[in-house]
Amino acid sequence: MTTLRQIDLTCPICSNRFSSQAVLSTNSFGGKRTDFHERAAGTQPLPYFIHMCARCGYAGSERDFGEEAEVSPMLKEHVWDELAPRVPAGLVIGSEKYEFAAKVAIWQGCEPRRVADLLLRAAWCCVDEGDVEAERYFRRQAGWMFERALASFDGVEREERAVLTYLVGELWRRVGETKRAAEWFAKVPDEITNEPTQQWVIDAARQQRECPREWFG
Ligand SMILES: [Zn+2]
Repeated sequence: MTTLRQIDLTCPICSNRFSSQAVLSTNSFGGKRTDFHERAAGTQPLPYFIHMCARCGYAGSERDFGEEAEVSPMLKEHVWDELAPRVPAGLVIGSEKYEFAAKVAIWQGCEPRRVADLLLRAAWCCVDEGDVEAERYFRRQAGWMFERALASFDGVEREERAVLTYLVGELWRRVGETKRAAEWFAKVPDEITNEPTQQWVIDAARQQRECPREWFG
């Protein structure tokens, strides 16, 4: 079971104090999709790893609301100009929180890898929200951002390149770009750094190219 706890946060942009729900514990008994989307039994924890200020739209993890949050004047300006006018009325859904957090991460100058992770999670939330169009939008955004991370010299740890190359293929496959997906799956063997522990990535890439599955295991 996923359990949540209430936390009190102060927005570093507008000083608004508010309560949010955070994940206390969760599980992965719901299996894992072939894009690494882990499912919990019971409540899905994803929406509760990110918090959003309902006043200005600033969003991020609990740490982004802590003392060490980096808030430049430029970030403040972006939040007020671009997020505040778009704050949804009423209950905020997970994909919206991740979308806003990804924008904040870009304005904070975070690495493409970090931004890509947030966009991928936005897509995963859309799956649970049943919004196919938004899911495809975020998968594309995440795909492009992971591609950018892989293209930069040290944007991705060497030993992570194979699995992220596979993931880019899987993201394109899931939006129906079969040819582009196949190109990425074909790159996987060249990115292997440790064959015994990474053989599964080669196998997964071949499987998703030839006879795709939705779930691991
Ligand atoms: Zn705020």
